[in-house]
Amino acid sequence: MRHYSIAVIPGDGIGPEVINESLKVLKTLEELHGGIRFSYEYFDWNCQYYLQNGRMMPKDGLEQLKNHDVILFGAVGDPSVPDHISVWELILPIRKGFQQYVNLRPIRLLRGIDSPLRYKDHDDLDFIVVRENTEGEYSDMGGRLHAGTPFEMAIQNNVITRQGSERILQYAYSLAERRKKKHLTVATKSNAINHTMTFWDEVVNEVRKDYPHIQTQLYHIDALAAYFVMKPESLDVVLGSNLFGDILTDLGAAIVGGLGLAPSGNINPEKQFPSMFEAIHGSAPDIAGKGIANPIAQIWSVSLMMDHLDLPELGKLVLDSIEDVLVEGIVRTPDLGGSCTTKEMGDAIVAQMKKSALTKNI
Ligand code: NAD
Ligand code: MN
Repeated sequence: MRHYSIAVIPGDGIGPEVINESLKVLKTLEELHGGIRFSYEYFDWNCQYYLQNGRMMPKDGLEQLKNHDVILFGAVGDPSVPDHISVWELILPIRKGFQQYVNLRPIRLLRGIDSPLRYKDHDDLDFIVVRENTEGEYSDMGGRLHAGTPFEMAIQNNVITRQGSERILQYAYSLAERRKKKHLTVATKSNAINHTMTFWDEVVNEVRKDYPHIQTQLYHIDALAAYFVMKPESLDVVLGSNLFGDILTDLGAAIVGGLGLAPSGNINPEKQFPSMFEAIHGSAPDIAGKGIANPIAQIWSVSLMMDHLDLPELGKLVLDSIEDVLVEGIVRTPDLGGSCTTKEMGDAIVAQMKKSALTKNI
């Protein structure tokens, strides 16, 4: 019996709603496999916790998470707490503290879903974005000057390090090596962002020499955004800095059906620290409490978690079951044009997993 311990941080808004469905999926995987056990520890760190304690997580928060194998994260953010607090004091310390330097975000049009890009089909929309997840534009270096004067200004530093860029490039290349097209597209903006992006390009041009069998292309981020819409079929692995990768993946989500269908893994490839799995969407306060959030992004993140735990057959079972339910087309949440609830969607996926497992010998 293999045992895995999972830290669960449901968070705010629709976070707990979609986490509930993920937990049902995990429980089903345990039952179907028979040889694995998941144990859970729950952490109530969210905006409510902040309002009561003046911080998003306890001082020793990372210590409490450290010994778990993986973290399942919902989403944080509530109108009662400024967004930079909920993000900066909870998600970013976990990503940075646990060296989850890879943010893996598959952009894939699932069977049963139509892309808003009218002429694009399933084979055209199947790539993966690797977002640098620990440095870049999301730094806390900078500050305010000349407060209270007409010359008041804010400066935000963008930090690109050689080590940080090399390791994310190596990861992106090793991923490209395992894919069919063997193609890496790197986002840059060295024509306008002088110091950091020219350095980034320099590191790309050094590391690419070690991967002559992978076709590498550098694109300016603005042009690349257009490619996402005009010729997504040319993309295979896309690498972006922290901010560029963040923006590109909401666009990526949009071209494959929306934020309800976009998963992510915050990966520490060396497995020195726990990795964290979450949908790329936020807490969606506009639909929170209504029970209509689409849980697929979060459940697909569980599939990525299984891949990370070296249980790829379980990861595949989850993703295939999501697709089977979508192809059937009966159970759909409002974001997909249907009228079913979060729970009904979760139940349908669980039922499909059980049905598929009978034939797949899991
Ligand atoms: P959002 O992703 O929460 O919502 C954007 C839009 O997409 C909303 O209209 C929402 O209803 C819809 N949507 C998102 N997920 C959905 C789902 N699963 N099913 C159906 N519809 C869905 O982004 P936002 O509105 O910019 O941010 C809301 C809050 O979330 C803010 O506080 C923000 O800081 C926070 N946030 C947190 C994370 C995170 O926890 N990692 C990420 C992004 C935003
Ligand atoms: Mn984002």
